[in-house]
Amino acid sequence: MKKLLSIQTLIIAFCLSLTFIPLVYKVDVPGMTLPLCEEAEAVETPIHFFVSRTIADKWSMDEIEASIKASVRKSNLTMKNSCIPMKRIVACVEVVDFSGRPLFDIDQIRRYLWELIGEDKVEQIYAKPNQFYGAVLAIEDGYFDYDVLGTTNPDEDSQFFMLSEHADEYTLEHELGHLSWAWHEDTSWFQVLDDTLEKHTSEVNKQRLKPYARGYHCGGAGTIMSYEVDILPVYSSPEVSNNGRECGIADRADNARQMREFAEQLRQKMKSYSAT
Ligand SMILES: [Zn+2]
Repeated sequence: MKKLLSIQTLIIAFCLSLTFIPLVYKVDVPGMTLPLCEEAEAVETPIHFFVSRTIADKWSMDEIEASIKASVRKSNLTMKNSCIPMKRIVACVEVVDFSGRPLFDIDQIRRYLWELIGEDKVEQIYAKPNQFYGAVLAIEDGYFDYDVLGTTNPDEDSQFFMLSEHADEYTLEHELGHLSWAWHEDTSWFQVLDDTLEKHTSEVNKQRLKPYARGYHCGGAGTIMSYEVDILPVYSSPEVSNNGRECGIADRADNARQMREFAEQLRQKMKSYSAT
């Protein structure tokens, strides 16, 4: 039986829904060399999962929760491998019924979700900057094709993501990476990704775009934000290597640095939150 949140030959949508990139996930961990991490207390990031009724009609809650937990475990492995002091935890898994609502646009879907879960819950999520929430949708819900696994629009909302029922264990962290302003590897000749991000990011968020926040490939595989066929549970970093090849470049491909900086900013925000 094919499990929810697992599939072998898939595609992840570019965050701003601009393009589609094929990915096949196979982990080749034995060739990886990882850095020794500095001791740091991890910032917790609770994640609220809202699963479409269409999925809940096909799978038991135990199966759905097991798949979500497997994704969260993979996220935390990726954090650990990348020396990022953040810890993903499951805040809740709830079923929502989108029936009768046309699900074509991520921002509209987010607003529908607000209606379904209620104002109090929405306020509770946005009250803390370390929280993320996502809609998990079935193909029949209309938004996802079989070749799209997840999407985000961090310029519009940096706490919301969407996952397909066919998303695999890496997709959650890939999308959360985007919400932390980590991006794909730019394999084009003319820095198309740089230009695209600059063009589609609002002025207020432009300072969040960093030239080093890009994925990378190394030793026949790619880091979690890359387009490579084989994916490693690690963010790009020159301190990581795979089969003898560095998995990043300091000024061009160091998503681990971006994520560590994001974690530190989150830690500071949470201190201010606790102090109020
Ligand atoms: Zn992506």
